[in-house]
Amino acid sequence: MRRRICFFRLPLLLIGALACTQPTPSTSNRPPLLAERPKNIVLLIGDGMAVAQVSAALYWRGVGRSVWERFPVVGFHKSHSYDERVTDSAAGATAFACGQKTKNGAIGLVPPDYTPCRSILEELDAQGWATGIVVTCSATHATPAAFIAHQDLRAFTEYIAEDYLKTAIDCFIGGGRGYFADRPDRRDLLDSLRRRGYVIRQGAGLRHLPSDGSAPFYLFTAEREPPAANEGRRYLPPAAAYACTYLKKRSEKGFFLMVEGSQIDWALHANDADWLKAEMLDFEATVAEVLRFAQQDGETLVIVTGDHECGGMGLNPAKSPRQFEPAFTSRLHSAVMVPVFAYGPQAHLFSGVYENTDLYFKMWQALDRQPN
Ligand code: MG
Ligand code: ZN
Repeated sequence: MRRRICFFRLPLLLIGALACTQPTPSTSNRPPLLAERPKNIVLLIGDGMAVAQVSAALYWRGVGRSVWERFPVVGFHKSHSYDERVTDSAAGATAFACGQKTKNGAIGLVPPDYTPCRSILEELDAQGWATGIVVTCSATHATPAAFIAHQDLRAFTEYIAEDYLKTAIDCFIGGGRGYFADRPDRRDLLDSLRRRGYVIRQGAGLRHLPSDGSAPFYLFTAEREPPAANEGRRYLPPAAAYACTYLKKRSEKGFFLMVEGSQIDWALHANDADWLKAEMLDFEATVAEVLRFAQQDGETLVIVTGDHECGGMGLNPAKSPRQFEPAFTSRLHSAVMVPVFAYGPQAHLFSGVYENTDLYFKMWQALDRQPN
């Protein structure tokens, strides 16, 4: 409990410290003050998560205990894609990754000619940052793919897997081993990765990984898509925490990590409130793990957002006056604005109402760097 109380006070302490530009002297039992600039960025994406989903999670967890109430900065982004009011996850993730709107379905390709854009992950990798992806879908699914692949259609999963060989990403945790090893073209991409020095593991255990940072790794949690959070999947919160600690050891410069609660969207497409609850609480626990790391680290900017809303979800009155009834108006994505939560150095950049593409520029601005 003591730690939590400190954490709640931290934002106020920081605002005070920044306002007077005189850092408050830290004492031994206080968390370190935040650096002026982040070295590390963790971008957490709840696929399909907007205000209704966050509200539901907040009430399911219990007001005052929810991770959302710990963020000092909140903004909203407009999620529309290049030519449609309602985006899909491919265009949504490309907007975050590359800072450009694209057509629905495109992975890391942008108009007018649909040429490849360089993602912030690829660019920071080229500039010496450690990079990682931790997801609850397969590696080839739209959201992780947009940070590393360049394909005309999100359905080109075998080609997306090949694109993973082009960036020296330091760690990947998620599903999709089959797209690398069990392919129609009979190529074994895992062999190619091993030849490049990667440790390849299977399962959800974090024990047999190069935890000292001595080698890059892939941990495949499933052959294709991992199970749902209410079917026994538990790895996302510890894997996200593990990736932060691991990546910190991989580069002096800093790290970029993308973490996705991928199946929030799938529960919403299915209009399945029980599944949604399990996914949102799993994602919330993941955000809490990353915040804990960032609080101790002091040099990590944490951004949490969704790529779009899904399900046209509402929180309606329930029979019990203190409960709510989750309701869905569709099985598709919607156009409502999506909240952005930020914590850490330069978090203030993320307040306001802006385009989804601005997240990309704000991350670069926070680092005080530019893509080459
Ligand atoms: Mg996704
Ligand atoms: Zn979707």
